[in-house]
Amino acid sequence: MLSSFTHDVVIVGAGPAGAACALALRHSGLRVALLDKARFPRDKVCGDAIPGPTLRHLSRLDATYGPELHALLAPHRTDARYSRLLAPGGRSLRIRWHNPAFNCARLPFDDALLTLVRRHTATEILENCAIRRIALDETGVTIQLAEAGREPLRAALVIGCDGANSVVARQVGAAAQLDRAHHCAAVRAYYDGVADAPTDTSDFYFLREFGAGYCWVFPVGGGRYNVGLGVLSEEVAARRLDLKAELRQLLATHPHLAPRFAGAGLLTPITGFGLPLGGSGRPVHGPRWLLCGDAAALIDPLQGHGIDKAVHSGILAAGQVLRSFQTGRFDQEFLSEYARQVKHHIGRELTRRYRLMQLLAGKAWLVDLAVRAAAWPWLQRRLVRLVG
Ligand SMILES: Cc1cc2nc3c(=O)[nH]c(=O)nc-3n(C[C@H](O)[C@H](O)[C@H](O)COP(=O)(O)OP(=O)(O)OC[C@H]3O[C@@H](n4cnc5c(N)ncnc54)[C@H](O)[C@@H]3O)c2cc1C
Repeated sequence: MLSSFTHDVVIVGAGPAGAACALALRHSGLRVALLDKARFPRDKVCGDAIPGPTLRHLSRLDATYGPELHALLAPHRTDARYSRLLAPGGRSLRIRWHNPAFNCARLPFDDALLTLVRRHTATEILENCAIRRIALDETGVTIQLAEAGREPLRAALVIGCDGANSVVARQVGAAAQLDRAHHCAAVRAYYDGVADAPTDTSDFYFLREFGAGYCWVFPVGGGRYNVGLGVLSEEVAARRLDLKAELRQLLATHPHLAPRFAGAGLLTPITGFGLPLGGSGRPVHGPRWLLCGDAAALIDPLQGHGIDKAVHSGILAAGQVLRSFQTGRFDQEFLSEYARQVKHHIGRELTRRYRLMQLLAGKAWLVDLAVRAAAWPWLQRRLVRLVG
């Protein structure tokens, strides 16, 4: 057993959760390592809709982060003030959202977050650095790296921010097997030349042929569109769906989508990735470990948004790190305060939204009714409040 620490805290994964956690530890005086298997800038399969609360959480840490991010992302982002919802029966609804949100490809967005970490913190950033195994003992955590011959890292605490296929979550036993009822499978690709596609409007298509899920067309600036399809993994497995083929088929034959994509160009391969949904009750803490973001299964089951929850949980985890180092306590009981905060600030709402998703799943008539009813301004205001 190794006893000398290479770091106080090791954050595994430098996506939104890991970057936010490192930013929130900027004044801690702790030796923080932030490691990622990729070299940035790196792509992440996503819808690229950056939810409004993301910047609010970061700005609460430091008022300069918002303007800095805006400056870094100016050439890459587009404001998304409106959404068009197309119900299975064909009725559509245009909504103006309360929260100012924007769309931005994850390649520049996540790179900009990491730039903030470089500028504002003394974090040691280790790229091209995949973890393979974690060993917990009474005195610390040993993190073994995938690259042959690299010395393991040793710290008092490990924060798992390594996304939907989290090695940390698997190693600590928090995500032993895929929970398909709380998991969504999704594919996306970038297109240009999409017709009837205002640059400030994100389109959601709810489809009769899929119980829980939707197809999206989101503008991401520069004439490019992020186009994708997400479906609950239970349904994908039960019907043996090939989502790449389903998306191609939809864009070619759906009465509203086909005319829009008749002259569109596919810019990238169609790529798939998973979304671990909130409401699953996945443990987020244990002795000497915490999980954040997708590793903690904190994606909104209704909309598929997880970037804001990743940032929020990363910041909450940093608060727990500070409390642990102030008291010298890293045991499961003490770390349960983090789990309590995640449940209070994020988890309860996600559980409610999971139930709502289940209520709507497979009931095209109910979605049709909701879209029809939301034409009334009073109900529309309530819908906007409910969804975001
Ligand atoms: C198709 C799709 C569409 C989506 N659309 C949206 C959307 O429009 N808006 C939204 O808010 N959310 C969306 N999401 C969810 C969103 O992408 C995630 O919630 C968000 O990326 C979570 O951030 P994170 O930091 O937890 O994980 P990630 O962003 O996945 O970052 C994890 C990091 O860990 C690194 N890593 C992984 N394994 C290891 C390892 N073994 N060793 C070292 N490093 C490792 C990875 O390289 C990565 O950089 C979508 C997801 C999918 C799949």
